[in-house]
Amino acid sequence: MFSSAQPNAHTDKVVLQKYLALSAGSSYTQACYIWIDGTGEGLRCKTKTLDFVPKSVEDLPIWNYDGSSTYQAEGRNSDTYLHPVKMYPDPFRGGNNKLVMCETYKYNKEPTETNHRKVCLEVMNKAKAAKPWFGIEQEYTLLSEDGHPFGWPKNGFPGPQGPYYCGVGAGKVYGRDVVEAHYRACLYAGIRISGTNAEVMPAQWEYQVGPTEGIDMGDDLWVSRFILHRVAEDFGVVVSFDPKPMEGDWNGAGAHTNFSTEPMRNPGGMEAIEAAIDKMSKHHIRHIKAYDPREGKDNERRLTGAHETSSIHDFSAGVANRGCSIRIPREVAEKGYGYLEDRRPSSNCDPYRVTAVIVQTICLEE
Ligand code: ADP
Ligand code: MN
Ligand code: MN
Ligand code: MN
Repeated sequence: MFSSAQPNAHTDKVVLQKYLALSAGSSYTQACYIWIDGTGEGLRCKTKTLDFVPKSVEDLPIWNYDGSSTYQAEGRNSDTYLHPVKMYPDPFRGGNNKLVMCETYKYNKEPTETNHRKVCLEVMNKAKAAKPWFGIEQEYTLLSEDGHPFGWPKNGFPGPQGPYYCGVGAGKVYGRDVVEAHYRACLYAGIRISGTNAEVMPAQWEYQVGPTEGIDMGDDLWVSRFILHRVAEDFGVVVSFDPKPMEGDWNGAGAHTNFSTEPMRNPGGMEAIEAAIDKMSKHHIRHIKAYDPREGKDNERRLTGAHETSSIHDFSAGVANRGCSIRIPREVAEKGYGYLEDRRPSSNCDPYRVTAVIVQTICLEE
């Protein structure tokens, strides 16, 4: 059966195996360079053959691409540079092959407009002593290639929300193959996925990355998103990080960001958690601007005060309250130390911006 609506899923993956089984010679490495494009959300990649096996990211050459085709440069000055920053085992090509996360720089050596990693790294370096840990809960929605939620009836809607969250069974969840393949591929790449679950809206899912310290949070989350898009491509399924893919009585998608410093993680840490919340309460707008690519416009559709969210206009904090900006997990309140959860970041946020502003407000300002 051939479906022209899902061309990627319908080339024969068994035939592909015949070619992937060919040896490329033990001295070659295929290095897949990955970067964030000019939308601040989209990912791009291209592959380079190296005639050696890189031992660390420092062994990898700077490379370039046509920034005028990624919304990152004009045609007249289109060479844009890729600076490798972190290397991962490649779960798609296996062997010695690598995925390579990169920063992007313009012809004049300045970072591109959507390179938020450079500043994030500066912030993380200043706050090293606090040992900042993050755990990001990445929510997303699976769509068919026609843009309709995966598995939903073509003319109409599934039954109302209720049976789907952490659901099991045909008719409760849609797209588990993608979830399982992605989970294993991330672990192969060395990305610390801490768990996964089906979400409240059918065809919506979540995985968590963390706890992860400093700049690694942004690197690992971006590469986990790349792996998700790439896995879903094999299945002919589209991944959407839109924070409110379906209007109406359907939950949106976020990227709850769990955060702690070393003092918060030690007995008596509640004092540091409360001090952090007090600081965040004074910078609500600064945070909202950093929490989606359109500086609050995307999150406006999601942070309505309904569907387990707080209003985008107000700052609030509470124990075990999912209608707050900041939630202190019940278990943390009972123990008296641990971490806090910022529920505001949008599913399509740039984790470099999110983690940088949190550390800036909590660790680097009075
Ligand atoms: P929720 O109850 O909000 O659904 P999850 O279990 O989905 O929470 O996610 C919690 C996240 O918090 C995980 O990614 C976990 O790794 C992370 N986490 C746990 N402890 C800490 C900590 N001390 N600092 C930062 N993140 C943490
Ligand atoms: Mn969760
Ligand atoms: Mn969730
Ligand atoms: Mn959460």
